[in-house]
Amino acid sequence: MPETTAPALVKGGPDRAATSVVDVAVRPPAAGEVQVRVEACGLCGSDVHAWRGDEGYEWVRTPVVLGHELVGEVVAVGEGVAPSWTGRRVVPIAIDGCHACSVCATGRTQLCPHRQVLGLSFDGGGAAHVTVPAGRLVEVDADAPALRMVLTEPMSVAAHAVRRLGDLPPGARVAVSGPGPIGLFAAWLLARAGVDVVLTGTERDEPTRLAAARRLGLHAVRGDLGDPSAPVDAWIEASGSAAGVAQALGSVVPGGTVVVVALFARQPVVPMNTLVRGELQLIGTYASLREDYDTAAGALATADGLEEVVSTAFPLGRAVEALEATAAGKVVKAVIVP
Ligand SMILES: [Zn+2]
Ligand SMILES: [Zn+2]
Repeated sequence: MPETTAPALVKGGPDRAATSVVDVAVRPPAAGEVQVRVEACGLCGSDVHAWRGDEGYEWVRTPVVLGHELVGEVVAVGEGVAPSWTGRRVVPIAIDGCHACSVCATGRTQLCPHRQVLGLSFDGGGAAHVTVPAGRLVEVDADAPALRMVLTEPMSVAAHAVRRLGDLPPGARVAVSGPGPIGLFAAWLLARAGVDVVLTGTERDEPTRLAAARRLGLHAVRGDLGDPSAPVDAWIEASGSAAGVAQALGSVVPGGTVVVVALFARQPVVPMNTLVRGELQLIGTYASLREDYDTAAGALATADGLEEVVSTAFPLGRAVEALEATAAGKVVKAVIVP
């Protein structure tokens, strides 16, 4: 097969200026891999950190095609992959482990010390085509709009965070701090499950993120919970702020649960005595697993109109602008359309 090239969003080196849309070789699938025609690829905070070369992202391979939140159609399969994958609409699992170590043996493949991240460890979906291991494929609804199904990966992270809350008592009230896509989706999943949920944000979140939450019918407030007399059984902290952590631990009922999904630019002071005296549970949650992708894809398949509130499309040629819009919080979710 002659080698062809096509434009892709490439991080070419450690500096911010090294990221641009340039032509790269389109790689045919090797054994165990499939080639996916990308319909859409979302961008998130991790892409912004990688683009800027922020602390904690020094390990990102360069050059690399950015983008780990994609949906597309399998157009070619490598040796050993069932040909029946061809023509199916899929989302690849973004973070996967080696499936051979003791961590993977517990089922937590996203925590594997040898984990590989699509679009950071190897070429991702900011391109017309991407080649991924077949073992990562999750089949998704073939008919829903691409701008909605492209939300499967971030929705799966929210689904994993919700799962980490454990069983909620009947009539439970849950708060979510931080109305970025993960917090927004966690609140949306909880509300869909009939849970009484309040989503909190800051003044900076008001015009875009809190407004979007309200358009989705969520109870979204600025600052505190609005009704401090109503106790909160559990809390998902998705803001990455010290204030969010302190508010969460100070607001849940004795024995309550706080699940933290955000990553923190600065290490927060955690009010440990509140945690101890309340016998609170403080739980971390990271990325997601195959069953979370299935939950997310199933929810999105019937979420008519969600993409109109959440997704803002940018043609691939304007992908750097999409990164800038993400960094500035001007959009809920920037989506590259090749
Ligand atoms: Zn992401
Ligand atoms: Zn492993």
